[in-house]
Amino acid sequence: MRYLKPYKAGFALAMFGMAGYACVDIYFISQFSSFIDRGITQKDTAYLAWAPVFVVGMFFLRGVFHFISSYCLNWAGTHIVKDLRQQLFRQMIALPVSYHDKHSTGELISKITYDAEQIKQASSKALVVLIHEGVFVLGCLGLMFYNSWQLSLIFLVIAPLIAVIVAQVSKRFRKISSNMQNAMGDVTTSSEQMLNGHKVILSFGAGELENNRFKMVNNRNRQLDVKMEATRAISVSLIQLIASFALAFVIYLASFPAMLDTLTPGTFSEMITAMMLLLKPLKQLTTVNSDFQRGMAAAANVFKVLDEKPEQDTGTIELKQVTGAIEIKDLSFHYPGHDKQVLKQINIKVEPGQTVALVGRSGSGKTTISSLLPRFYEIEQGEILLDGINTKDCTLDSLRSQMAVVSQHVVLFNDTIANNIAYGYRGELSRERLLEVAEKAHVMEFVQQLPDGLDTEIGENGVTLSGGQRQRIAIARALLRQAPLLILDEATSALDTESERKIQGALDELFKGRTSIVIAHRLSTIENADQILVMDQGQIVEQGNHQSLLAQNGYYAQLYKMQFSEAG
Ligand code: ADP
Ligand code: MG
Repeated sequence: MRYLKPYKAGFALAMFGMAGYACVDIYFISQFSSFIDRGITQKDTAYLAWAPVFVVGMFFLRGVFHFISSYCLNWAGTHIVKDLRQQLFRQMIALPVSYHDKHSTGELISKITYDAEQIKQASSKALVVLIHEGVFVLGCLGLMFYNSWQLSLIFLVIAPLIAVIVAQVSKRFRKISSNMQNAMGDVTTSSEQMLNGHKVILSFGAGELENNRFKMVNNRNRQLDVKMEATRAISVSLIQLIASFALAFVIYLASFPAMLDTLTPGTFSEMITAMMLLLKPLKQLTTVNSDFQRGMAAAANVFKVLDEKPEQDTGTIELKQVTGAIEIKDLSFHYPGHDKQVLKQINIKVEPGQTVALVGRSGSGKTTISSLLPRFYEIEQGEILLDGINTKDCTLDSLRSQMAVVSQHVVLFNDTIANNIAYGYRGELSRERLLEVAEKAHVMEFVQQLPDGLDTEIGENGVTLSGGQRQRIAIARALLRQAPLLILDEATSALDTESERKIQGALDELFKGRTSIVIAHRLSTIENADQILVMDQGQIVEQGNHQSLLAQNGYYAQLYKMQFSEAG
């Protein structure tokens, strides 16, 4: 109802149209008795001459009402879906990273596309039928009671019976619909995985495997659809059958001489016509009930996402420009919903302007530390201080604006290279500045060979680029950001040694005057770091600079020797 509010004028007009449409129909039928009694039985030719005009006039009015109701309802319905989609989109951005870790992309996409569409069906098509046919049924009943209240009493008996069936069937509709929406989510998830993993599927010859997997979810979706249809068909037939008993009963009663005296042929045929005409809307009302329940189930599904708690932004301190002193105190962490302690009692102190390197085996928790700095996950134990201020007390926006992150998985948007570099840049950006950073990050090196230069479209997630080229764009993006804090998570891992050496120059310049946290795979890139922290299984096992760690002859020294011999 709240979504409806801004469009209530259109909606009211639609209701008016629907009610008018039904009223025209009822009025049309109500003229039957006088048509037969006055026109045919009493042969009133003047009256009969008006009948054709009346017919066309009625249908003209009916058409006008139909257009008004359909147009206005669709107008309001599409607006509601648009608003819901927008809200879902906004909410999904605002939801914390931990929520996205738990829910598959396909499932979430299906909510924005399929579920929202179902709600539109319920709020427009279903409502049209509900109101139009509802008014029509009421009108028919009224007409019957007016003609012969004695005969119509039978409806007081069957109405509760029908109500019970409809209530039971509605429950079932809603349950099946809810399962169907989940099944639809599975269909999107499978398709999305197949599309993302297309190359892997081909190279591992897993096409059949995926086809079979999809066959299952696809078929489940179909089964639920059939179930829904079966329920609908049975309930429609059942309700009509009950109504037919009423019809039979009325005809039976009408055959009694006492009854026959009170009825003219006109009223009797009008009565029967009204009863017959009742059957169709009864069917439609049951059918539309399934659409309506489907919409309600979809709404429940959508509102569940909308009711999820967005990222907690309870901090109040607006960070301006920090100097970049970081202190991590007694930090322990496990991912929400997982038991494993990923970080144990981490203590790190970084002076402004320092470069700190994190090294260690994969899975030792390096990336986790880099995701906790911008508070992608809530910290439970310990604290992270930035310039002495607990990051928990800062607003998320101001906290994140202090950092430029180049993550392990470079994400590029389906846009030009220039727009990808400038992504999220606030303020006016000159072409010279753009060229400058592109030059520094060695993006120009490969861009020059492209026909459109920086304005080349790179496709979804930059498919047309190599891993190293993508990383260079990400580095250029970070260069442009000019944030006091820089986090590089294996930012040069996809580069060959030569390109890496070239970019190292750009990075060294990037490190100047700002605090940098560098997670490195190749130790050669971090030899100059002020501090090197060696991590293993969520703990810092060694700490020092390159020379002192080599002298310790521990884990780092071992790692270094190994890589050195590989390179040599
Ligand atoms: P590194 O970057 O050092 O390779 P990570 O910080 O990515 O290591 O991972 C540390 C540990 O946390 C691993 O054991 C990994 O399985 C786990 N982990 C990483 N990301 C998640 C996540 N989103 N949810 C649950 N566990 C995770
Ligand atoms: Mg990592």
